[in-house]
Amino acid sequence: MTLHASDAAASAPVYPLIINGQKVNLDTVFAVDDPATGAVVGFAPNAGEAELNAAVAAAAAAFPAWSSRPDADRVAACHAIADKLEAHADELSRLITREQGKPLNGVGSRFEVQGAAGWCRYTAGLTLPVEVLQDGEAGRVEMHRKPVGVVGSITPWNWPMIIAVWHILPAIRSGCTVVCKPSPYTPLSTLRMVELMNEVLPAGVVNVVTGDDKGTSLGGLISAHPDIRKVVFTGSTATGQKVMRSAADTMKRLTLELGGNDAGIVLPDADPQAIAEGLFWGAFINMGQTCAALKRLYVHDSIHDAVVEALAAYIRNIPVGNGLEETSVMGPVANKMQFDKVAALVESAKAKGTVVTGGAPGEGLFFPPTVITGLSNGDPLVDQEQFGPALPVIRYTDLEEAIRAANDSPSGLGGSVWSSDPEKARAVASRLECGTVWINKHGMIQPNAPFGGTKMSGLGVEFGQEGLLEYTDIQVMIL
Ligand code: NDP
Repeated sequence: MTLHASDAAASAPVYPLIINGQKVNLDTVFAVDDPATGAVVGFAPNAGEAELNAAVAAAAAAFPAWSSRPDADRVAACHAIADKLEAHADELSRLITREQGKPLNGVGSRFEVQGAAGWCRYTAGLTLPVEVLQDGEAGRVEMHRKPVGVVGSITPWNWPMIIAVWHILPAIRSGCTVVCKPSPYTPLSTLRMVELMNEVLPAGVVNVVTGDDKGTSLGGLISAHPDIRKVVFTGSTATGQKVMRSAADTMKRLTLELGGNDAGIVLPDADPQAIAEGLFWGAFINMGQTCAALKRLYVHDSIHDAVVEALAAYIRNIPVGNGLEETSVMGPVANKMQFDKVAALVESAKAKGTVVTGGAPGEGLFFPPTVITGLSNGDPLVDQEQFGPALPVIRYTDLEEAIRAANDSPSGLGGSVWSSDPEKARAVASRLECGTVWINKHGMIQPNAPFGGTKMSGLGVEFGQEGLLEYTDIQVMIL
């Protein structure tokens, strides 16, 4: 729903853009709905090309001074941002829950805000030292890392705040400046976060624009903009491909963190009771709307039924409800587009598979955690990324066949092996085609470990030293 700002303000808060350190209000805004209730949470400005160009110009103007400041200033800025997030944790958590749906509790929005602050502090501690490649009679060769310039960040709606921090913090730590564009489904927490960041950053270092995704494609303009030197995008493979195409003309640096269809393999020696909780969180974290969630589970025939029953028993005790209620462990699906996608995949699975838990939509956008057995590769719920609370469990008898089936996917983000024998698990893990592989857990990411996809799951990595380097160009100095 697009409205005039003056009409909108009467019903819910209107959040401004932040360009060059200034709050910018526009005449037209769009509504952001609470997926738990359908109520309007707030309004975001419906920006167009003029606002995007102003944001890019501000970031470009801020770059020379920001990149040449003493390194200690950028370290201090990262910590100051963490302080801001911590000081406003309650407000930000509630905003994320209301616009995205994840519960306040558990692995929900409080966890997301705390994680974002922790990521800021970890990123503050990274450094970009000059490497001396040669120093002798034949001369001295140094490798310097220089910030690329203006970075365009396009973020999704599943973890709106922490993903924005994953994009923005390494950029500003390395000396880049940023224009970010959150998803139209969840723009409010990013608008507010960038406003808070601007209380401690020089004007223009981090700017934010939002649009309703119906008219101007701000993401398309960012990917093609001649004054943006790098795009970092988290979202679908299809849109990642569009980013890559439009970025070609200006030879932008790219980090693309795209979809996954992560497989887990349960070996015959696994203990079903011991792994049930890990399987649940691996698959259903954030209602399954997580790029590196467990999306297909291959279980050996000998323990298939016991694993399914242990997982189902765990799920039966999971309260699903409005995320603002402290008792909720799962909330609604984040938006109607994703709800329809999950519902259609589950419906298609029913013809062949057996529904063990869930299986039918609840009220509004609520969809209960669903486990379906009896499927195999070739079925849509197995082959396609559901990105929602529906896990297919696939029975196997031959481990080689399970490894082949797990790898038989264009995606290659994460994978996992579940076993009581670490050496056996490690041997299988090393054969999975993915950027991260976990043993007896799935989806845990951490700021010191590079994270990224193989195959169609992306390009480049985020996090750790390798993630920071993606915001730099190499300059070799030969003396
Ligand atoms: P998309 O990944 O398709 O991305 C939508 C975003 O991309 C919007 O911000 C849009 O903004 C921008 N965009 C659109 N066209 C372009 C372009 N040509 N260049 C650059 N940016 C562009 O997300 P959806 O929300 O549509 O979700 C679709 C699917 O993506 C989900 O079902 C899920 O499977 C997957 N997904 C994966 C995530 C992950 O973490 N890997 C996260 C969220 C979703 P604008 O229109 O203003 O340009």
